[in-house]
Amino acid sequence: MSKIQLTGRIFLTFNIKTKSGLHIGGSDEGISIGGVDKTVIRDSLTNQPYIPGSSLRGKIRSLTEKYTGADQNKRIGVSTIHTCTDKDAYQQCDICQIYGVPGEAGFSQPTRLIARDVQMSDASAEELRNLRTDLPFTEMKTEVAIDRVTSAASPRQMERVPAGVVFGRAEMVYSLYSGSGCDSATDLKRFKTVITGLQLLEDDYLGGLGSRGSGKVELASIEVKVKSKEKYDTSTPCHPNGGYANLQALVNDYSALNGKVANALSIANGE
Ligand SMILES: [Zn+2]
Repeated sequence: MSKIQLTGRIFLTFNIKTKSGLHIGGSDEGISIGGVDKTVIRDSLTNQPYIPGSSLRGKIRSLTEKYTGADQNKRIGVSTIHTCTDKDAYQQCDICQIYGVPGEAGFSQPTRLIARDVQMSDASAEELRNLRTDLPFTEMKTEVAIDRVTSAASPRQMERVPAGVVFGRAEMVYSLYSGSGCDSATDLKRFKTVITGLQLLEDDYLGGLGSRGSGKVELASIEVKVKSKEKYDTSTPCHPNGGYANLQALVNDYSALNGKVANALSIANGE
């Protein structure tokens, strides 16, 4: 079998706007800090809340698993994810190919999708500074939990990034490969799964406390660029002028977008 080699990469960049308060828990989750029971994760240099790439990617994976009915059979921390245990199934599995399998599976091809951490936009950070929010860049939301047995009410303080905040630019990088069981045209077809995952995310929530209304997000100003292995110093835009205003605009144009990506990478049209 021929060696695996990179065909090219798709760079998906966008802004993420919070439509409700956003709570992505920090590593100190569970420890009360300054009266806050649930704090958000912050960048250690800027002290601003950010969206970890792993949260974004993990959420899209999980939603896609449930959407496709993939067997969620592997326990990782507090969540359960899908992982193929059989090599033939793995070869055919969009989820494991895109998002990867644990190293111990022993048949891992390169994970196709990576997601970078997303910082708060300068404009939003400035706006929140001027608003003098409860805590730097965030608001506190008090929730009252009722003990079902004793009926005792215990208020809890949740920290959230307020609605209307823009994080960005977010960047997701999707790699296409050929050789050694990989096929670029199949990888391009699989890219649609990533877009569907982002649609599922908009209809669901990011971070915690989603069942209580937190974490509604919307993508905006989406751009898609491609670098082929042959011309890796050149990045080819595949979106219309000005990019896509929102995810629906990209989905509506997917056929044209797909054709442009295929053309830029000199591979068969993935559709
Ligand atoms: Zn799988």
